[in-house]
Amino acid sequence: MKQEQQVKHEIRPWSLVEKSFQPGEYCLNATLFSLGNGYIGLRGAFEEGYDPEPFSDGCYLNGVYASEPISYGESAYGYARNNQRMLTVPDGKSIHIWIDGERFSIAEGELINYERHLDMSAGITQRKLTWRSPHGKTIELIVQRIVSLSEKHLFVLKLEITPLDFDGEVRLQSCLDGDLAQADRSDDPRLASPIDQGDIEWLENTADGDYLALPLSVKSSSFYVSSAALHHCESNVEYSSANLHSEDCVSTEYRFDARRNTPIRLTKYVAYFAEQNAAPIEASQLRSYLQRCASRSYTEHAESQRVEMQKFWEESDIQVDGNDALQQGIRFNLFHLFQSLGRDGRTNIAAKGLSGDGYDGHYFWDTEIYVLPFFLYTQPQLARGLLEYRHSILDAARSRARELAIHKGALFPWRTIGGEECSAYYPAGTAQYHINADIAYAVRHYSRVTGDTEFLRDKGAEVVIEGARMWMEIGHFNPRRNNQFCINEVTGPDEYTALVDNNFYTNLMARAHLEYAAEVFQWLQSFDPEACRILSKRIQLAPEEPASWARAAETMYLPYDQSLGIHPQDDGFLDKPVWGFAETPEEKYPLLLHYHPLVIYRHQVCKQADVVLGLLLQSSEFSAAQKRRDFDFYEPLTTHDSTLSACIHSIIASEVGYPDKALRYFQQVARMDLDNHHNNTQHGIHTACMGGTWMCMVQGFAGMRLHGNELNFNPYVPEGMDGYRFRLQFRGRTLALDIDRSKASYTLVSGEPISLHHGEHVVLLSTPGQGQTFQMALMEEVS
Ligand code: BGC
Repeated sequence: MKQEQQVKHEIRPWSLVEKSFQPGEYCLNATLFSLGNGYIGLRGAFEEGYDPEPFSDGCYLNGVYASEPISYGESAYGYARNNQRMLTVPDGKSIHIWIDGERFSIAEGELINYERHLDMSAGITQRKLTWRSPHGKTIELIVQRIVSLSEKHLFVLKLEITPLDFDGEVRLQSCLDGDLAQADRSDDPRLASPIDQGDIEWLENTADGDYLALPLSVKSSSFYVSSAALHHCESNVEYSSANLHSEDCVSTEYRFDARRNTPIRLTKYVAYFAEQNAAPIEASQLRSYLQRCASRSYTEHAESQRVEMQKFWEESDIQVDGNDALQQGIRFNLFHLFQSLGRDGRTNIAAKGLSGDGYDGHYFWDTEIYVLPFFLYTQPQLARGLLEYRHSILDAARSRARELAIHKGALFPWRTIGGEECSAYYPAGTAQYHINADIAYAVRHYSRVTGDTEFLRDKGAEVVIEGARMWMEIGHFNPRRNNQFCINEVTGPDEYTALVDNNFYTNLMARAHLEYAAEVFQWLQSFDPEACRILSKRIQLAPEEPASWARAAETMYLPYDQSLGIHPQDDGFLDKPVWGFAETPEEKYPLLLHYHPLVIYRHQVCKQADVVLGLLLQSSEFSAAQKRRDFDFYEPLTTHDSTLSACIHSIIASEVGYPDKALRYFQQVARMDLDNHHNNTQHGIHTACMGGTWMCMVQGFAGMRLHGNELNFNPYVPEGMDGYRFRLQFRGRTLALDIDRSKASYTLVSGEPISLHHGEHVVLLSTPGQGQTFQMALMEEVS
């Protein structure tokens, strides 16, 4: 486990505050203060500009990308052909400021005071500063931003400037700016690829008084992106305005005869719309949309935002007693998940959310395994959208399967936006076939928690069945292993071990997937025979296929080492020498930035939880003692170089009786981005780790497991806190849990009666408002 780092921001349970401007933290804070609504994402870069090098600024739209051919020095058949890169759309935040002819920039003059504030209860950022220009003119500047949670296409920005010691000209140039800075590419595979400016066609723009529009089309991906801005000026001083435009930038310039102590206020309403392979929104419609939005003041929008946030927190908050640092981390992470999540069934949640262009804005398995549980148990309709997205890319997944010589079914892309496989490095990309099983796991999880049979019938069944067919072709009944079902040449979650035979996690998850596919098929046959017939015909399902899935599941080979009493990660893992941890200095981590993959692959060293993750996802299949042996074996081999790792270790540590470890891992997970533990938050947040935060609390400390359709809890309170509280949605009910050191209380807030398990006890909750309380037992050591 890495050393704990210094807390970078003041500890406040509901907010993030930057008390003084630190140039070296500008890029990091651009991520931390980013705002989003699941569609629009704005980095927290300054309106007036500030240009540290290298820096990527950006406004992003979820699901909107440019496509570019991947160039390989040495290509081979079936390599992914195109990358899809989240598009940086024209920057609507941009407002350049001149104070009596001097350009305002924090890099010049004197910054007398500065404070930036993210209010997570209200969904708003505010920056307030006092600045003296090199020629001695002082202003106060306050800027507030909202990316609207009630208007998907809108963000609103309000800027207020007050001259404090002069009368003179204040000039504001408010832009829609298509010329964006982007950081250089390095050897770090986690960064974004360079932008091809030639791919953008600028369409006819408008700069008409307070109104601006800058439409563009992306040749490679056939997207039209319409961006527009409408301004509202409020000032007691005279001003004039003029428009400026070039091909890729339109602006309105306001010149104010500013007076001492008289504020100038400009509200900017910015809208984005995007269409793929379809006509863009009509210019008149776009304009009237913005006019409608601008008929409400900034304050009214701020009020709606607060209402939306309150709804979110009511359903989704986790309250922690006695530890504000953890409380702040938890809220920050849940807040960012909510900001990042695509809500329309056609978009998803990127590994970096909408806060930065790291990983090119791609969606990964992170969604199903790390992010979905939070939404599933707090806002199930949003979880459904994530799974609908997978259904929407099934055709691309089928085509990808054919390229890999898989004749039936689908292979989901390891990383993508629009559905096409974008992983240029197949050993840590396409070879992670486990993504099919991860998606099926999520469909099953969703169905059990919601009881939503309509989704399962209309979309879920197809996703599960098409995904399962792939295993039958990449795996085989191996005569050399007693005809057990084996799967060769795969990569499991641990990306420090690649292209192996019988990865434990993959086989375990494939077994569950195949079993579930057979079950879903049978269920569909009896639940809706006609739907089953239509689906079977459409995907040309042979009658004997479901039985073959069940047989493969029954005979699935899972590596086990009798002498060590553990599950080897794969067939060859134990034959490798252990990585020289003692000789590896701290600065050589993450290993992926300092060693060729082959050096890493030939050792026993894990980037992230692999077997240990399997123990969590298929929890009921393993005894506590087995889990402890596996944990004890893998923990010392794991570098946690991926942010997907510490959370899983925290949860299993809780389960097997290592509360101190569970807490130490959790402290890192909860504040991963706030304290920039992995030193790369400047490129974007880590959404999987944020989802892992919720999992650590609910599945780790509260010990929640779903067995069949029943919820089980085994809660405890770790040393670092006094207690915690959260709500869950389960099959149409709202449940509330309140855990402190002496007792655990379960309440049915609304919905039908339900029984749960608290350790060995059955908890019966029969009327809304009713609760049951248990004395807490001490945590037992697993031996
Ligand atoms: C991890 C993957 C993960 C990806 C995106 C990588 O570092 O190894 O498991 O999907 O990051 O978060």
